[in-house]
Amino acid sequence: MPELHTPATRMPTIFFGHGNPMNALHDNAWTHGWAAIGQRLQRPRAVLSVSAHWYLPDTAVTATAAPRTIHDFGGFPRELFEVHYPAPGDLELVRRVRELLNPLPVRADPSWGLDHGTWSVLRHVFPAADVPVVQLSIDESQPPAFHYGLGRMLRPLRDEGILLIGSGDVVHNLHSYAWGRHPVEPFDWALRFEAKARELMLRGDHQALTDYEALGRDAELSIPTPDHYLPLLYVLGASHEGDAVTFPVEGMDGGSISMLSVQFG
Ligand code: ZN
Repeated sequence: MPELHTPATRMPTIFFGHGNPMNALHDNAWTHGWAAIGQRLQRPRAVLSVSAHWYLPDTAVTATAAPRTIHDFGGFPRELFEVHYPAPGDLELVRRVRELLNPLPVRADPSWGLDHGTWSVLRHVFPAADVPVVQLSIDESQPPAFHYGLGRMLRPLRDEGILLIGSGDVVHNLHSYAWGRHPVEPFDWALRFEAKARELMLRGDHQALTDYEALGRDAELSIPTPDHYLPLLYVLGASHEGDAVTFPVEGMDGGSISMLSVQFG
């Protein structure tokens, strides 16, 4: 059967390793990589963002025309609290997301806005903040396969001009993280797990990536809590078999945070 949409009209889907919130202000290889992605993309109608930092016991969407910038962290310089990312919301996209996920109840949340998982990256990708953004929460009470399944249900958005992004970190161990004081060599287990994840993505083995808990000790250390890994499963779910798989941003920060970005399509 012929494809209904050509790849030229289909948006890619991208996972961003966001790392330290300070990347919002930094000018480094990672933020340059994010900016380059924004320059390469055809302009999306809107962004649907699944951020590691909206992790709660249900599935919700930000249902507001003007989402606020949320500074969901403590102990950072005042400069970071002064960042505002005034992208508009998109109530039509909210309606469409709820329709695609039906019969799953999706709570329309008028009070949450954009957290730093979203804005620390998007302020580099779309610096003008003129592309509407909706966030989708991660239901912490659900198993990994649920999140992969939601990504699959949302996949049609890619043919409707929507850029579906996940923002987390493939490797995220804050306990081992050297908080930016000096450059450190990445941990062996972090490098091994990231390499394994890349290999599985290139091979299209989404089952193994979804059942990451079966990947052993390296996975346990790299994913001590699921919040930063699960956004990747939405992006995997939204990928198509023929999509090119690329890693437009790479690197490890502080020994135990992967800055890997993955683009499908
Ligand atoms: Zn984070």
